Amino acid sequence: MLELANISVSYGFISALKDVSLNVDEGEIVALIGSNGAGKSTLINTCAGLVRPGGGEIRLRDRALLKTPSYKRAELGIAVVPENRRLFGEMSVRDNLCLGAFSRSSMGRMPDLKQDIEMVFALFPRLAERQSQRAMTMSGGEQQMLAIGRALMSRPQIILMDEPSIGLAPKIVARIFEVIRQLREQGKTILLAEQNAAASLRIADRAYVLELGRITMQGKASELWEQDKIRKLYLGEN
Ligand code: ATP
Repeated sequence: MLELANISVSYGFISALKDVSLNVDEGEIVALIGSNGAGKSTLINTCAGLVRPGGGEIRLRDRALLKTPSYKRAELGIAVVPENRRLFGEMSVRDNLCLGAFSRSSMGRMPDLKQDIEMVFALFPRLAERQSQRAMTMSGGEQQMLAIGRALMSRPQIILMDEPSIGLAPKIVARIFEVIRQLREQGKTILLAEQNAAASLRIADRAYVLELGRITMQGKASELWEQDKIRKLYLGEN
């Protein structure tokens, strides 16, 4: 579905991604785990077309994307749940969801959104209760739910999530990960960038470990979880 081949990204003299290759197959959750500054956001933003790599190639269903602008990538089915959520704070929950479907409007007139909104509300009943509330007044966890819901409204081919657990209380994190697992059961394809290795390896099919811009380990999530190095790096075990 999504393939990155030998991607390198630099910000001036800072090399943020070095020769990174990975792929996400249809229906998989692939976790990209790494600590602060490992390059997770850079990788997500590169896929979204917000950061231009110095070398390499990105393909979505064998279509080369490097020269494709970010709005076009959204139309092709790449949805992003960004780290800072980028909601329209003054707008209602419902209107934020409707904006998520905007990339589909280029295919003709604006699609009927009722069914999609109901699908999001079924996944996150809290959003249904708060649909008229301004997004900026929602709690951090509710905003994260809204950001995921908005991505779903575009009926994406693949969803790229940048640290959905960041800054949230453990109970909310558990809820968010439960929903991500449900999305996989519905056949969605997800690339999940996370610092929370324990929670993400539990729900992922495969994973890549990113350290200082390089992929240092990869494999089945269950097998990576058994590796001492992962436990030492991300769980503080000795
Ligand atoms: P975090 O979990 O802290 O968000 P991350 O794994 O997402 O980290 P990135 O944000 O991709 O990592 O950062 C990778 C490296 O690139 C870091 O050294 C960071 O300081 C640097 N970097 C990121 N964005 C920029 C930028 N716009 N200009 C210069 N350097 C940047």
